[in-house]
This record gives sequence, structure tokens and C-alpha cells, in this order.
Amino acid sequence: MTLTSLWARLVAATLVPIVLVTALLYPIFTAQLEDRIVSTRVTAEALLEAEYEGLLQDMNESLNQVLATAEFPLLRSYMASLDPAHSPARSMVLQRDHAQLDALFNTLLTHFERYTRLALIDVQGRERLSVTTASMLPLPTVGDYTATPLFQEAMALQHRDLYVSPPRLGVTGGGEADVTPVIDIATPVFDPSGRRLGVMLFTLDWSRITANLSVAREDGATHILLADAQGTWLLPDDHAGTMPFGGALATLWPAASQALASRPWGNAVLDKNLFWFRTHDIRTHHYQSQAGMIVSEPETQPWRLGIMKPKPTLSGLLMESPGQLLAIALVYLLSTAFGLFWVLSHHRQRALRQRALLFSREARQSANEVQDLYENAPCGYHSLDGEGRVVKINRTELDWLGYRADEIIGKRDYRDFITPETRDAFDAAFQQVVGPAQEGGAECELLCRDGTTLPVAIQATAQVTDSGFQYSRATVFDLSVRKQLEERLAKQAMTDPLTGLGNRRYLEDQAAREIARAQRSGAPLSLIVVDLDHFKRVNDTHGHDVGDLVLQAFASTARPQLRDGDVLCRMGGEEFAVLLPDTTREQAMQVAERLRQAIEESPAEVGVEGIEGGRLAYSASLGVTLVSAGERSLKPAIKRADQGLYAAKEAGRNRTHWQAGQGEGA
Ligand code: GH3
Ligand code: MG
Ligand code: MG
Repeated sequence: MTLTSLWARLVAATLVPIVLVTALLYPIFTAQLEDRIVSTRVTAEALLEAEYEGLLQDMNESLNQVLATAEFPLLRSYMASLDPAHSPARSMVLQRDHAQLDALFNTLLTHFERYTRLALIDVQGRERLSVTTASMLPLPTVGDYTATPLFQEAMALQHRDLYVSPPRLGVTGGGEADVTPVIDIATPVFDPSGRRLGVMLFTLDWSRITANLSVAREDGATHILLADAQGTWLLPDDHAGTMPFGGALATLWPAASQALASRPWGNAVLDKNLFWFRTHDIRTHHYQSQAGMIVSEPETQPWRLGIMKPKPTLSGLLMESPGQLLAIALVYLLSTAFGLFWVLSHHRQRALRQRALLFSREARQSANEVQDLYENAPCGYHSLDGEGRVVKINRTELDWLGYRADEIIGKRDYRDFITPETRDAFDAAFQQVVGPAQEGGAECELLCRDGTTLPVAIQATAQVTDSGFQYSRATVFDLSVRKQLEERLAKQAMTDPLTGLGNRRYLEDQAAREIARAQRSGAPLSLIVVDLDHFKRVNDTHGHDVGDLVLQAFASTARPQLRDGDVLCRMGGEEFAVLLPDTTREQAMQVAERLRQAIEESPAEVGVEGIEGGRLAYSASLGVTLVSAGERSLKPAIKRADQGLYAAKEAGRNRTHWQAGQGEGA
């Protein structure tokens, strides 16, 4: 594996768990998110409904309070007595009623807490009684209402009809000139006979009505929106001051403003927020009251109420619960760590496997090479168990022996393949191998399947463990070539190169054997010594080469005259000897004579010019003797034969002379 692919694997090991974990977790969190969106929707819708109901209820209460007050008998009689048509004598009563009403209005103002002003206006539009929470302040006392929409509208209304102004900035009490949104609620006052007496006006502190809505905004994330049909912000200034009362909704929340303007109710997804909204037309809504018709400035209706909540997001969901976030991070971390660990350990295992594979391949190759060397070595290899049975043997040795492995291994004793002549040597060496020496060697002859033998040198060592001898390990060298060489050298050492006959050493070697045999058998052993006559003259006359040819001719002539067992050899120069086993004096003399004659009658073919027919006649003198019974070497016999030879030379050459031993007769 290359480094690059390892990196690729590590990257994959990091990415795959991330993808898998994400694939596993994503649907779970998406479902959770869906749930959250649904619950947000349910909460928001419930909240919107509650806000709406609250607003309605507060409005309803106020409307009822205005209507109930307008029908108050004292108020009616007071209003009725304001009529200029009535006599001035009634002014005492009027003052008393005014005081009572003033007290009543103050009580109402204090009791309900939601109004900033209660006022009575006569049919001329003059304010006849006014109670405010800001009575200490230099208020612009509205003395004349004739030009105000509230008066004009209210005066046109019938019994129990109501005029409701749009929220406007007004005055609140509390000692400071706090400016707060207010709503004017007005209704006409009639006497029991149906005569119009004036207008009853309640100015409602709008911030108190909408205080509950503000509470919904307290969580910081949820926004309550209230705007009129023109998109004018109807709620008091929020704490952040981002949206002042009377501001344009479109400047702060253009998307919400658009959504509000598009439909009477519904919901919308605004960028990062969810938005639910509905409308409320104060004129057409059926209040739980005694009210008849309700009028207001038509361009400001209907009001639009909305609730905006941040859209739940996955990240928001996760951030909500640090424990969960930690658990997810842990899952990612663990799965990635596992992936990396897996890749690294897999990589290591793979490398180890590859190394092991390489080693085993190399080991197998080496084993094959060793096996090949073992099987085809130029020498034999075998192993024997403690009993000498073959447990292993190489092909070279099997080829020598002419057997297959399955015919030998576990079945045959190696000893069976040793010739009886050399078996002792083998046994002795094997005992050494299995013995304390733990090694041994022997030169033996292998007995091959085809009956031939093979001289070998066996060198063995023992394989020994704690539990003792296990098997021997032997190397077997083929000695046949060496033996042949030795034999050839030995033969060369005993052969005369010129004539091909044995030399003096050969004679001595043969003589030792024949003397021993003769002694064992008691058979006679004769010796003839031959010396060519006047050979120096041949050399001198015809040259040394012709001399050599004569010497070779002698060998050729002499050999056929002798038996197979007779030993003919060249003693040196032009001197030869014949050892005749099992040959008596008479027989030896006959052989010598026959030999002399054959030489005399067989001139040497020398092919030299000047010699008739190229043949050169020559002769030899011979001394004959018997090897005496007590003689252990040939030396005495040679000496005697030489004496016989000398005698023959003395006697004129080309003749045979018997030379008797000690105690023998001449
Ligand atoms: P006699 O009849 O007394 O034996 O006389 P002879 O000449 O044969 O004896 P002598 O011992 O004086 O001479 C032997 C000669 O043989 C001397 C030597 O030059 C010769 N001779 C010895 N070996 C060889 C050989 O290998 N080749 C040849 N051509 N001549 C040899
Ligand atoms: Mg001689
Ligand atoms: Mg001679």
C-alpha cells in the first residue's frame, strides 16, 4: 500500500463515519425540528388567540362600563337639568348633582384604573364635568368639543351606539406628564323619553389594555404586533425603543407588514421568523355587551394583530441542550476515531500479511533451492534412523542405486545396499555415528540394483536432541573415478611404456603373490631371465630407434609362447624375466628353449633400409631357475637366473642354461 492511498483511506475513514452518523442523526433531528415547529405553531396560535380574546374582553368591559355609566339616572337627570330651558331655580339641585357625579366619576376612575379621563359633554359640545388622572396638570381643557370627531360622531349615534377613536397619544396621571396611547370611547346620553342630552366620554389608557400583549413580548424572542389598517403601530413604545407608538410597521418589519396587508388572517414564514396574524374590526365585531352600533374612523379599521416567533432551526435546537450537543460530538468523535483506528490497524495487518507472504515465498523458494540442491547434489545424501533404516535419501543416490524413493524410504536398511565385503566397515562406522562419537565414516561399495557396485566414501553425523539420537545425516561420495584413476596410475607405475609389459616392480608384486601361493600349494615356481645378445651392437649399427623396435618385437614374439598365468616383464634395458607358476624345472627349460627358438626364428620387423626384407634377426640368452621352497622373495632366484644367463653368454650366447638352487642337483 502506498502512502497516498493510506492518506486516502484515512480521509475516507474520517468522512465516512461523519456521513453515516449525519445520515442517521439528520432524520431524527429533522423530525425533532418538525415537532418543534408544530409545537411553536400551536403555542403561537394559542397565544395569538389568548391575546385576541384578552383584547376583546378588555374592550368589551370598557364598552359596557361606558354604556352603564351613560344610563346612570343621576347622570341623566344632571344632563337633563343642564338644559337652558329649565329654570335657574334648579341650579341648587344641579350643583348637588354635579358634586355627586364628580365623586362618582372619581370613584370610577380610581376603581377601574384603566381610564385617564371621564367627561360629560352637553349637546352644545361644552364639557360639563371632567375628571382626569392628571387633574393637577395644566391640561388643555377641552371646553368645546363641537369640532372633534368624537362629538360629531357620538351626537349622530343612537341609544347604546358607541364611538371608539383610534388609539392616539394622550395624557396619563401619576404626577408626570407621561404621554401614553389612549382611546376615546363615547356614547350619546338620552333621557328616558329619548331626548338627546349630551355625550358621555371615557378616555381609556391604551397601554393598560395592551399591557398583557407586552407581557408576551417579554421572552425577547416573541413579538406581538398590533397595527391599524394603515400599518400604524398601535402598541406603546417597546422597551428597546425600536418601534415607537404611531410608527410605521413597514419600516421595521416590511415582510410582516406585507403579510398583514395581504390577508385577514393566516401565517407566513418571514426570513428567520414564523408569523401568525388576524384582523379585528372593532365596528363589526359582536361584543358581549349591550352595545348597538360601534363607529370609528373607517380608514383605521380593521386592527391587525400578529405574533412573530423565531423559526426553530437545527442549530438552535442543538444549542438548547448542551448535553445533547456533547453527546453528538462524542458520537462523531468516537465514530471517526473508530474509523481511523480501523484503517490504521487494517493497514498494519495488511503490511504484516504482505511481509509474511514475502517471507513465506522467500522461504519456499529457499526451501525449493535447498531441496533441489539436496536432491541433485553431485554426492549422495541420506538419513538413517537408529536401526539403520532409510528415512530420507536424495535422487543422486537413488539414481546410483537404481531404486525409487518409495521402494526404500521406511522399508529398507541401508546396510542392504552395501557389498558384503565392505559391510563390516559400514557397520563399524554406523555404530560410531549412533554412539557417543556421533560421527563416523567409511569407504564402502554400494550394491546397485543392476548388480554393479559403486565404490563410495560415506561421512555421517548424528542428529541428536535432548531425547537422544534422532537420525543420521550422511554424505556419500562416488569414489569410482578416483578408484579408476588410482588403478590407472598403479598400472602405469607397473608397466613398461615401450613394450607394454610389466616392469620390475610389477614382477616383484606378482612374485610376492605367486611365492605365497606356491608355498600354500607346494607347486613349483620357475623363473626365466632373458637378455638379448649383443644388443649394444644393434643400437650402434642401426640406431636407438631400431633397438626399441627390436625390444617391442621381442615382447610380441615372447607373449604367445607363454601361458596366461605366466608373468612376462621387462627388468630393464634389454633384460626380461618370465615367472612361471606351477612349472617344474623341465617344463621351464622347455618354455625357455621354445622362447629362444621363437626369437631366433622371428627377426624383428624394423623396416630399415640396408637390412634384407627390413627384418633384423637377433637372439637371446636365457637363465632358468626354480624359486626354492624357503625363499620369501624373488631376489635369490633372480640372482641365480642371472648366473645361469651369464653362463649361457659365456657358452656362446643364443642358448639356455639351467641354474640350480642350493641343495638342488645341477
Ligand atoms: P651381451 O651379448 O654380452 O649381452 O652384449 P650386449 O651388447 O647385449 O650387452 P651390453 O650390456 O653391453 O649392452 C646392452 C645395451 O643395451 C646397452 C644399451 O645401450 C642398450 N639398451 C639398454 N636399454 C635400451 C633401450 O631401451 N633401447 C635401446 N635401443 N637400447 C637399449
Ligand atoms: Mg644386458
Ligand atoms: Mg645383452
